[in-house]
Amino acid sequence: MAGTRPTRLNNKIWTKKILYIYWLMVIMAFLGQIVGLITTIYYYPNYIGEFIIQKLFIPSSIQVVILLITHFFINYKQIFSSRLLTIAGTSLALVTIVSHPEVHGLQVLFLLTMAVVLIYFDKKKLRFSLIVNLIALSSLYALPSIRETGNFYDYFSYHFVLLAGYMAYLIIIERGNEVFQFLQRAAENEKELIVKSAMMERLSKVDALTGLYNHKTFHEYLDFLYEQSISQGMPLHLALIDIDSFKMINDFYGHSNGDLVLRRVANAISDQVTEDDIVARYGGEEFAILLTNKSLEEAYETIETLRLYIANQYHEELNENISISIGLKALTADISKELFFNRADELLYKAKRNGKNQVIYEKDERHLIVE
Ligand code: GH3
Ligand code: MG
Ligand code: MG
Repeated sequence: MAGTRPTRLNNKIWTKKILYIYWLMVIMAFLGQIVGLITTIYYYPNYIGEFIIQKLFIPSSIQVVILLITHFFINYKQIFSSRLLTIAGTSLALVTIVSHPEVHGLQVLFLLTMAVVLIYFDKKKLRFSLIVNLIALSSLYALPSIRETGNFYDYFSYHFVLLAGYMAYLIIIERGNEVFQFLQRAAENEKELIVKSAMMERLSKVDALTGLYNHKTFHEYLDFLYEQSISQGMPLHLALIDIDSFKMINDFYGHSNGDLVLRRVANAISDQVTEDDIVARYGGEEFAILLTNKSLEEAYETIETLRLYIANQYHEELNENISISIGLKALTADISKELFFNRADELLYKAKRNGKNQVIYEKDERHLIVE
């Protein structure tokens, strides 16, 4: 799910999109001038040449040059800068306004170029755009053609319109950032939830004290491996382990030391078995191991090694060693899952009756054969 999800906003794509919109605007302005040309042909046939050069050819050529330069920086130099877009947009607007001094109100084009920066949701970029557009607007009035067609009030009012637009855009950015932060928080919460639910799932599978699989998970594995082994003819062994005289350990050395020993035994079992084996804490001081892909001899060897390892482990808190008894049962094709488990349990009790600290298994059995 992760991996492909973007971690940053992609300015590259948006810069290119804006550039294409600029192209579109210039083409539309050109088409608009074609309409103007038709009107000129009809009403002012004497001005056709002048119109074509001054209104159509010169402004459109300048705009195409501006766009080509911007295109070069964006697509070849890979400069995806908002400032570049601002300067390009403002220059395009300037050309349109200067070439049509007779059209009133074209100055609102500066508002549009300022709006372009909104895609970044960045106040600094907007401020830069305001300054550039204010400079462009002010410099317009250095041109006599503009001064002649407008009046003093126009001059001021357009500046105020630009400032008012800037403030409105600021609010949009603030709101956008609020929404962005909200979404970010929501995404973080979602991530936390995923981690939490994964942890919960793990916790529901393992035993809190030892970290081994719990009783429920053991039975899930037993169900699955029993079916698999019977249908595929793969060997499966079950070892049921019980710590010897554990009640005494608790009584003599306290429950907390008992817990410590339980954890140590659990670690020893995990260390001694292979990756193919499933270890669970079946009950209080009882453990179960499902051994897969092993012959009876190999399974016995693993379990006997484990027994010896634990018998030789010295527990400082108890000032002595402890031992375990084990019933080891091989799965045969003729027994049910319940019988498989019960036989291992019987063998465990045989080990207890026999004097504890030993592994008991059935020697003369037809085991599932490893193919
Ligand atoms: P045996 O050799 O026949 O197995 O004797 P035993 O004393 O081990 O057997 P018994 O079943 O009488 O006692 C098991 C004890 O295990 C009793 C219980 O207090 C203790 N026990 C069970 N769960 C826990 C646990 O989580 N922590 C601790 N410290 N003790 C536990
Ligand atoms: Mg017990
Ligand atoms: Mg016991």
